[in-house]
Amino acid sequence: MTTTASKAARTARTAPSPLFSPGRAWTNWGRVEHAHPALIARPTTIDQVVAVVRTARERGLTVKAVGAGHSFTAIAATDGILVDLAGLDGLLAVDERLRRVTLGAGTNLHQLPALLAPFGLALENMGDIDRQTVAGATSTGTHGTGANFRGLAAQITGAVLVTADGSVLHVDGARNAELLPAVRLGLGALGIVVELTIQCVPAFLLHAVEHPEGFDEVLDDFSVRARESDHFEFYWWPHTDRVMTKRNARLPGEAPRHPVSPFGNFVEERVMSNGALALMCRVGHLAPALTPRINRLATRVYGDREYTDHSHEVFTAPRNVRFREMEYAIPLRAVPEAVRAVRTLIEAKNWRISFPVEVRVAASDDNWLSTAQGRASGYIAVHRYVSDDHLPYFREVEAIMRSFEGRPHWGKIHFQDAASLAPRYEHFSDFVAARDRLDPERLFANPYLERVLGA
Ligand SMILES: Cc1cc2nc3c(=O)[nH]c(=O)nc-3n(C[C@H](O)[C@H](O)[C@H](O)COP(=O)(O)OP(=O)(O)OC[C@H]3O[C@@H](n4cnc5c(N)ncnc54)[C@H](O)[C@@H]3O)c2cc1C
Repeated sequence: MTTTASKAARTARTAPSPLFSPGRAWTNWGRVEHAHPALIARPTTIDQVVAVVRTARERGLTVKAVGAGHSFTAIAATDGILVDLAGLDGLLAVDERLRRVTLGAGTNLHQLPALLAPFGLALENMGDIDRQTVAGATSTGTHGTGANFRGLAAQITGAVLVTADGSVLHVDGARNAELLPAVRLGLGALGIVVELTIQCVPAFLLHAVEHPEGFDEVLDDFSVRARESDHFEFYWWPHTDRVMTKRNARLPGEAPRHPVSPFGNFVEERVMSNGALALMCRVGHLAPALTPRINRLATRVYGDREYTDHSHEVFTAPRNVRFREMEYAIPLRAVPEAVRAVRTLIEAKNWRISFPVEVRVAASDDNWLSTAQGRASGYIAVHRYVSDDHLPYFREVEAIMRSFEGRPHWGKIHFQDAASLAPRYEHFSDFVAARDRLDPERLFANPYLERVLGA
């Protein structure tokens, strides 16, 4: 038995063609999920993606496309064939009239400014970082902030996928349009996305005002602040009464730029936001009792600045301190009460939390598994430094968020399963039906998808 089993395992791991290499250990950015894929495939054409799917079927292996591995959950983990789509990247087509671009699925968001600049285009909104791939970011519902702006996946107008039977499926307004609300945010469960067409906007600048304010002052009129700025967010440092607010106002692309000087940028983003944060987290990890004092210090030294720059420069920043994150979407009106409940929890448990709580907003959208589906949403994200135990904090925060009809970010740590998630999504069964149609044998399954969608 053992001999046959290990022979089978060896056969599965033998690279069948130059398209494949033997699997090796994989881990995600948050260092919380680990996997050992049998094989790694690096296709550079759609035909090669089809060949990967066929090989997987022949060998009885599952397949998982992996982006930049920036999901904190095991959504991208596989012990089957890991498909790295870095070779399927770049700008494939531009419709200048409609301001739509077609991108290879493996394109990283940080490639976009250079690709879109010649056409005077930009993404409508972005999250905190730009390391993700366009397919990875949209597959998990990545979002930024802004009461009138939806998540990245809502900008998808068309997709090309390789499905489980090895066929190439076009999904857009004219072809298989009924699948668009599923495919735009598909959790990697419906097929391997090879191309995405994205609705862009004319390139624009953002005028950023970052400023410390009082915790109660900001929460008391949170919905007004969220409505008054194009892009409003705040960070609350636990154990303090202060929050760092960030308001970004959209300006035309030709408006004068007043960027942070390269030195100022280096000091803020590398030294303050990353270097000092790393030091603070390490000290807080070794001597938790110091955390409240460190956090109070942080509220004094961080973020009191004003500048105007290209949208991507303002939306995103490097994140060099490794952490773990949970983020929940709740109805916008519930944000102040939920944030206060998190504060009460931390105080009641006497925990020492060195990382801030981040609060953002987004407009409602109609993607079936979007955390903002059908409702204007507030996002509350909690973080823990990579060396700290995140589990007790995240579990209790999750209980709070669930009491506010919370929906967890698919790419961030949570403990829910299909039974608890289904009632939170009006179209959950529609999504499962689309999965049954496109992947009836669960070629693209992994334990995470089995947990959140069912077997
Ligand atoms: C430091 C940091 C900051 C972050 N900031 C934000 C933020 O501001 N806002 C936010 O909403 N999220 C944020 N996230 C979460 C992140 O955007 C998502 O987890 C995103 O999915 C990561 O993209 P990725 O390319 O790394 O995808 P991966 O994590 O590699 O994959 C995610 C999913 O996409 C699937 N997938 C990838 N490529 C394909 C493909 N070609 N076809 C089919 N399926 C595919 C994978 O199978 C998997 O299911 C952050 C994460 C980190 C680590």
